[in-house]
Amino acid sequence: MWMQDQWSAGRIALMVSLLVASAAICATGLFSIQFAWWRPPICWQRARILMYHMVCEHRPRTRFNKLRVPPEHFAEQLRWLSRNGFTFVFASQLFSDEPLPERCVCLTFDDGYEDNLTNADPILAQFNARATLYLVSDRSGGWSSKKKAHHADDELASEPKLTDEQVRAMVASGRWELGGHTRTHANLTALPPDEARNEVLASSVDLQTLYQTRPQTFAYPFGLFSLEHLPMVREAGFVGAVTTEPGIAARPYQEPLLVPRIKVSGNDNLFAFKMRMRGGKRGLFR
Ligand SMILES: [Zn+2]
Repeated sequence: MWMQDQWSAGRIALMVSLLVASAAICATGLFSIQFAWWRPPICWQRARILMYHMVCEHRPRTRFNKLRVPPEHFAEQLRWLSRNGFTFVFASQLFSDEPLPERCVCLTFDDGYEDNLTNADPILAQFNARATLYLVSDRSGGWSSKKKAHHADDELASEPKLTDEQVRAMVASGRWELGGHTRTHANLTALPPDEARNEVLASSVDLQTLYQTRPQTFAYPFGLFSLEHLPMVREAGFVGAVTTEPGIAARPYQEPLLVPRIKVSGNDNLFAFKMRMRGGKRGLFR
């Protein structure tokens, strides 16, 4: 009887250890997929282009908090970049012949949210950084976060946008350069070609008219485009364009109108940010 009890206790102990070991293996596996920490960094000679939208606190129970990087996280990221010897460059510098040092980073902001000035700009100033703003040139009506008309949600339309005066102040500070992002944040793939061409051309013309600055680079709204849009971007005078595809390309760019960026998510902690800086993605898949 005593022998049998001892044998059962041994079996239970063995099963518990096996369970603990498999849980640990699963957790390590999930962590590794989520953060892909084992990958060697992509060559630091390649400039990192980071994609931001808003710098503000999260709004509870909303869908787009991944586009809202809290100000303290943004400051933490710039502190890390500064301490690790990164040079902040504008997107236009990446598409020029200018020789750039190893470890360059280009901060890009899409759309034109007011917090880019009120929250991000003081942090840029603190770290002597600069950024490229892919500005929707007509922000008067807000714009839709809907990729498709039948989607119910329209959360980003109500976010405060930059006024023309605010944009002028940002450009005058020398910390910001402007890039095109269409006139109305159009989904180019949903428009007939002539309307798509108008949206792209207008974004260049509008920025010149409103802010006396000729935008050199362009970002596709929603990251949506097809190959027919590339000649339109070139025709509008843009020398480079960035997508929302995750990645880190080498200069001079083989496809200057299809340059990938690194998404910075509002849900990232500093470790996730460092992983994105290393490999272009936080983890194995995104
Ligand atoms: Zn956008």
